[in-house]
Amino acid sequence: MYTPRKLKAFRCMLFISIVLMLYGSTAFASGPYYNTFNRHVNSNGVGDWGNDTLYYHVNSSSTLYDAIITKAVNSWNATSTPIYYKKDLTDGLIEIYSVLNIPPAPDGSVELAETRFFHWLQVDPSSSNWFWTEIHTNQNSHGYPSLSTVNKQGTMAHEFGHSFGLAHLTSTQLSEVKSKGIQVIMLQIAQGRTTYLPQTDDCTGINSLYP
Ligand SMILES: [Zn+2]
Repeated sequence: MYTPRKLKAFRCMLFISIVLMLYGSTAFASGPYYNTFNRHVNSNGVGDWGNDTLYYHVNSSSTLYDAIITKAVNSWNATSTPIYYKKDLTDGLIEIYSVLNIPPAPDGSVELAETRFFHWLQVDPSSSNWFWTEIHTNQNSHGYPSLSTVNKQGTMAHEFGHSFGLAHLTSTQLSEVKSKGIQVIMLQIAQGRTTYLPQTDDCTGINSLYP
């Protein structure tokens, strides 16, 4: 049987534990804010700090974007990750194409660009590693060409992030980065991405996939 004093102490403890529970599920939840395709990777790696150079190739359909692509690749090459990609004139493990019409996303929105993953045949990166990728920019008038130069560079860097193995954020991560005002390159423009450069959390993701 509770005496009034014990009851008061119990209520106080109950209150404290509820506060701790709320705190634990919101304010203390933290990054790093990156997501992967079930931790699958490019079997060729992502380079080796400039020592083991991998190559990307700009398809003739995309030479218009050559300078933008160079800036996007260099932004990744400059990070504290093993990533190092150089341009090749004939072939590469990342091939960049411009295509006429990528079908709209399931929600009906226009796709700006997409990355396709190949392990001889095209694969779902959530269920398999891959050897090379293709980045397709959507030449629909509401697609990639409609972006500002800075957003073209950011979208290209975002697609390179997919090529390396970074996925979009989970819905929980998304609501947290929104509430905290955190930017990562793996946000989509429609999700509020304003940066055009890989961020710390993106690099943490890469370093976890390619230790
Ligand atoms: Zn994306």
